[in-house]
Amino acid sequence: MVSDWYRKLKFASFTKNGRPSVGVISEDGERIAVYDLPENEASRGVAALIERDTMPAVLEEVSVSSVALTAPIPRPARNIFCVGKNYFEHAHEFSKSGFDSSAAAGAVPKNPIIFSKVPETVIAAGDDIRIDPEVSEAVDYEAELAVIIGKGGRGIAPENALDHVWGYTIVNDITARDLQGRYSQWLIGKSQDTFCPMGPYAVTRDEIDIADTAIRCFVNDELRQESNTGLLIFDVPTIIATISAGVTLQPGDVIATGTPAGVGIGFDPPRYLKDGDAVRVEIDGIGTLTNRCVSNHARQAKAAAG
Ligand code: MG
Repeated sequence: MVSDWYRKLKFASFTKNGRPSVGVISEDGERIAVYDLPENEASRGVAALIERDTMPAVLEEVSVSSVALTAPIPRPARNIFCVGKNYFEHAHEFSKSGFDSSAAAGAVPKNPIIFSKVPETVIAAGDDIRIDPEVSEAVDYEAELAVIIGKGGRGIAPENALDHVWGYTIVNDITARDLQGRYSQWLIGKSQDTFCPMGPYAVTRDEIDIADTAIRCFVNDELRQESNTGLLIFDVPTIIATISAGVTLQPGDVIATGTPAGVGIGFDPPRYLKDGDAVRVEIDGIGTLTNRCVSNHARQAKAAAG
């Protein structure tokens, strides 16, 4: 049973003094009303709220700056569903890149391309994206709107699909392009450790209009991606209907809906992420997800010098 107490809210998952907590962000974005939840529930992040009939009691109010944000769902219960090549211009830039193991089917897919990332890839806003040059030398960013499922189901019709959405967050679908190209299944290239920055917040489904919401990505303050979620080739209802046709969706499932044009692979020569780069994904109404890239080599050199 999903009730409506949480409409029009923006939630954060975080730790304070090491204890996992969940709360709602104030309108000015400065404070969090911390919910009174047992630790084992709070550690599930906003997933702990999804099936509640009533709002938890508020324990206290704290400033956002006094907590350490975690991803809204710090460790999803199962793989994150993802959609590939779901904006026209990106489908063309990726198809031309030479790394598209699905290119033979044409630049723009006839049906949604669905793949997944393992849950352990999830990191919070502010956490480091790890680049390991011994594994990949082609780490790329992908700004994406992500759907959080509220009501599970199988065989969900497109016209009912949004009733199954609890809310939205931001995902940066970090990708090792060389691994994505080498293996026809994308899972390895998409599931490297730290490759799913998520957050900073989750908003309920009424908080944004997914037919018209701006999405941007900056690398070191340079605008790389700028689009609108209204330009998805396969919209959210179609994606939910496609997956749930024979795969029962569960409350708390996360679906990353695809990235617009402007990823590193779209440039000639490609502009991959490197040590020290700051990647910032913005979706209006949700927030700003910033992560810094740290390469193993730089880390080892620092350790040796220190
Ligand atoms: Mg993607």
